[in-house]
Amino acid sequence: MLNSYVGRFAPSPTGPLHFGSLLAAVASYLQAKKNQGKWLVRIEDLDPPREIQGSASGILKQLEQHGLAWDDSVVYQSDQIDQYHDVLQSLRLKNLVYNCTCTRQRISELSGIYDGKCSQKNLSTIDASCRFSINRGMQAIGHNCDKLGFTDSVMGEFHQLLNSDVGDFVVLRRDGLISYQLAVVVDDYHQGITEIVRGFDLLDSTPRQILLQKCLNYPTPNYLHIPLALNSLGQKLSKQHFAKALSVGHESEQLWLALDWLKQNPPIELRQSSTGEILTWATAHWDLSSIPPLEIGIAAPANL
Ligand code: GLU
Ligand code: ZN
Repeated sequence: MLNSYVGRFAPSPTGPLHFGSLLAAVASYLQAKKNQGKWLVRIEDLDPPREIQGSASGILKQLEQHGLAWDDSVVYQSDQIDQYHDVLQSLRLKNLVYNCTCTRQRISELSGIYDGKCSQKNLSTIDASCRFSINRGMQAIGHNCDKLGFTDSVMGEFHQLLNSDVGDFVVLRRDGLISYQLAVVVDDYHQGITEIVRGFDLLDSTPRQILLQKCLNYPTPNYLHIPLALNSLGQKLSKQHFAKALSVGHESEQLWLALDWLKQNPPIELRQSSTGEILTWATAHWDLSSIPPLEIGIAAPANL
């Protein structure tokens, strides 16, 4: 039988890969290979103001240097803009979205959770963002409340009350950029992704993405969120916290540390092996149940 597992790694080109993003790459790669599936790479370059020139090609090079070879050709979100607008139009026709002219200041006074003020106003698209209506969406899929959840393969059960936990969310920004939430759902569907492996920071985006999938009649993939790598101050390793780029020439060491961090118990001798040997060992021994379902995260190895 044809194996239909399709996984992916979807970095944003906002800087080079660091240890935290390597973990998501390695975990999604191993989960795909263990399932004899495909592992796709998608560059999430939908936010030009946040992009750093050259980082998309830099990330691809870093993946290659770590032996993380992807299947098929790399997809760039910036090439899919028409498709997102078509989907947005279909949401408009189903009356699941509305235009909103609230200021940034008003939203921040609401602590970021939108209260639906513009939902009944029928505002024009001029100088407006476009928001997805949780109540209309839930109604469209036959739910009479706003509670939505799923079972994560590492973290377990996760539920949200969408109105109070996230609020009606932006699908098209006022500056005309398509939001991550909409783009990721459209791309995962078009790439036939069957399982999404990514960092814990995106767990709370998942119910929104599942709601969009259901409203668009897309299948919902399986989800697996891994803990975050933390710096010595207990913060997520990220570009904002100046996580160091991975270093060239230390790929085997970095892969080994990633496996160790993911509690895969790599043998110490493997540390000196080639990236190919490490990945072959790691695929054969990949054990999802060893990844701790820690919501707070795990300290990154010293120096990373
Ligand atoms: N592009 C997102 C990031 O780099 C990941 C999106 C996803 O995996 O759904 O954080
Ligand atoms: Zn508004």
